[in-house]
Amino acid sequence: MSAPAAPGGRDFPCVSMKCEMKTFDVIVVGAGMLGIAHAWAAARRGLSVAVIERSRQAHGATIRNFGQVIVTGQAPGLMLSHAQQTRELWLELAKDAGFHVRANGSLVLARCAEEADVLAEFAETRLRQEGYRAELLSARELGGLYDGRLAHHCAALRGQDDLQIYSREALPAITRYLAESLGVRFVTGTLARAAAQGRVETSAGEFQGSHVFVCPGHDYLTVLPGLFAPLSLEVARLQMLRAAFETRPVALDRPLLTGLSCVHYGAFSDLSSARALREVIQARTPMLLENGIHLLISPTPYGELIIGDSHHYGQDALPFNDEAVDDALLDLASQTLGARLRVVERWQGVYGAHGPAPFSVLRADERTTVAVMHSGVGMTVGLAIGERAVAEAAGR
Ligand SMILES: Cc1cc2nc3c(=O)[nH]c(=O)nc-3n(C[C@H](O)[C@H](O)[C@H](O)COP(=O)(O)OP(=O)(O)OC[C@H]3O[C@@H](n4cnc5c(N)ncnc54)[C@H](O)[C@@H]3O)c2cc1C
Repeated sequence: MSAPAAPGGRDFPCVSMKCEMKTFDVIVVGAGMLGIAHAWAAARRGLSVAVIERSRQAHGATIRNFGQVIVTGQAPGLMLSHAQQTRELWLELAKDAGFHVRANGSLVLARCAEEADVLAEFAETRLRQEGYRAELLSARELGGLYDGRLAHHCAALRGQDDLQIYSREALPAITRYLAESLGVRFVTGTLARAAAQGRVETSAGEFQGSHVFVCPGHDYLTVLPGLFAPLSLEVARLQMLRAAFETRPVALDRPLLTGLSCVHYGAFSDLSSARALREVIQARTPMLLENGIHLLISPTPYGELIIGDSHHYGQDALPFNDEAVDDALLDLASQTLGARLRVVERWQGVYGAHGPAPFSVLRADERTTVAVMHSGVGMTVGLAIGERAVAEAAGR
């Protein structure tokens, strides 16, 4: 087998045609959001790509999430620009791969005066300065939406750039599209054990590529554990619900958030009003902060809702769900929508957390790049991470 050429030149040489089946231009480890982002970016450049995935289908963070692409929630600067680029990439990918995406923006609802203060401070300060596309709505303006069903809130921020994706259907659709239309080879049920200098050792033998992108989600122990160890990474465990309306359905066509998210999301969390809001939440409902609860509601394409979430951090994710957390989530969602809801499905999601930044893209060696999220926004910035990392490695 001839050795693959080193990456980085403008041509990023194609080696797959010359060699046997286990040699590709690009090898990706992990078929979640980040792996898919890198695979798509490489395949679009005409490179041959293999994706090594441990499971038969990727069942990690990506299919468990809300599918919210919340551009409006990202901190100004790098995160916002990644989110804006990711939004455009999602729209292109949805068209090509044929999955459902709603591009109606989002609503951040203020449930009390202190939550409204945060939205107002955001609107007065960074909204235009930093290039967000959003507008403040009064309670009266909210009354004009959804037959007045949200009019019991004080105000809202309508984010125009935010998208809603149904991840459990989108991820398989993208995988099919990459395999069938762009020739990406998915090697599933196969564990990658090590990666270095363009070689990936797996349970199905060795694969070679000009460049390897390792996107293992929150598995820090299997491939390149020595790279992850000094970062002292943790995981976040989230409780999630899918629910149906029992009474008074609302025909939601965009994701809903509340002021509770403002103490977590970088667009708002450092505003002085957000710090004041955190103290109010601590005084009134400490249980929400103790369990990292902030209400997100995503409409599915079938009239149901994905409702969450809570955040418990640690080195491992405990398997035990707390019913009190699910009750709190359901109560918050019922109050927000003014409807009785019935849970039809419960699950746990886990994602990488507590890194030095919201995500890391690290060079393990000149032919191996590692991309991992340290925060719960891989749907919002992941496609841009892949696009930029592949462009850098391929030189185009
Ligand atoms: C409950 C929940 C809700 C969320 N909601 C949102 C949201 O609304 N918006 C948003 O922007 N983000 C959200 N996120 C975050 C987002 O889902 C993640 O940031 C993103 O999915 C991470 O993608 P990933 O590819 O890094 O990880 P994963 O999706 O976990 O994929 C990693 C894959 O790598 C595979 N793998 C790992 N190690 C190996 C190995 N050695 N060999 C072979 N395969 C391997 C795993 O099997 C897995 O399939 C949410 C996350 C959760 C858990």
